[in-house]
Amino acid sequence: MIDYQPLIETLLDAKADAWVQLLPQQLARAFEPANHGTLAQWQALIEQLPESEHSGSLLDADAVQIGRPEDLADEARKQLEAQLKILHPWRKGPYDLFGVKIDTEWRSDWKWDRLKNHVAPLVNRLVLDVGCGNGYHCWRMLGAGARMVVGIDPLLLNVMQFQAIRKLHGEAPVYVLPIGMEEVPYGLRLFDTVFSMGVLYHRRSPVDHLLELKECLRPGGELVLETLVIDGGPEQVLVPEDRYACMRNVWFLPTCDTLIGWMKRCGFTNIRLVDVTVTSTEEQRTTEWMTFHSLKDFLDPDDPKLTREGLPAPKRAIIIANPA
Ligand code: SAH
Repeated sequence: MIDYQPLIETLLDAKADAWVQLLPQQLARAFEPANHGTLAQWQALIEQLPESEHSGSLLDADAVQIGRPEDLADEARKQLEAQLKILHPWRKGPYDLFGVKIDTEWRSDWKWDRLKNHVAPLVNRLVLDVGCGNGYHCWRMLGAGARMVVGIDPLLLNVMQFQAIRKLHGEAPVYVLPIGMEEVPYGLRLFDTVFSMGVLYHRRSPVDHLLELKECLRPGGELVLETLVIDGGPEQVLVPEDRYACMRNVWFLPTCDTLIGWMKRCGFTNIRLVDVTVTSTEEQRTTEWMTFHSLKDFLDPDDPKLTREGLPAPKRAIIIANPA
């Protein structure tokens, strides 16, 4: 069981009483086994994971490393691998847990490498990672010196994968809460850095998402936004008629200029476009730990510049800004 007390105390210190009041209900609702078919099985699995001492962790590494192979007997490592495989599909990573190498669908370390030299140093900062998946980047943020990292993600399997990893690691000021952005109280003005990566295009109302993110930041804080973009100029945006790259829940793909325009109108300043990268089939692919279809299958087999639907293939931008 995760002890949420240090998180609650940090929120109280920061006068985020509004969230402290809601949090127990939010956790209780999400972790109620009756509300989710597989939750009880996942919880039992995490319960059984070894709590053995380990010789240390390396969070500031491409593969987030917890323990070393020699910390666990061969039999126990095989068992750990089998237990972790039950939490399939593993999308974000990679991880190296007691020598069990989780080769995830995404090389999430590549995204981290693209942004890490552009963000304000995370040392001693209170960080929010919106749509954090299983928390891979949360560990990287902690490894970069953050005082506390709070990730939120509404998908329970992601939260369970995080809990499994945290159990192997041991207590640390990092949390992944089973909630969506819309459940974070408006107007917290609390976090030193807020990350929103891979979330904006899943939101039906992207401008409201930007405003919600701004309201999470303390004055002088920093937003790190990563999202899908298309080529083109100001005031252009793609709204797929139906699916995009086989995803049903994609709404708005702006050009970089359009996105910067939205951010200005939302009251962001010092807006910097720091990276634009086409997603490659080396960065997102099927692996032993994510055996379903991946990017290669979502692209036009005759023209990898297009998705199956004939739309521009995934290209992602990273934009950093401050609330005005
Ligand atoms: N930030 C990670 C993961 C991106 S995948 C990265 O960049 O690698 C997008 C994540 O957003 C998914 O895990 C999904 O569950 C989550 N998500 C979807 N809707 C959300 C919402 N309303 N609030 C917060 N997270 C959301």
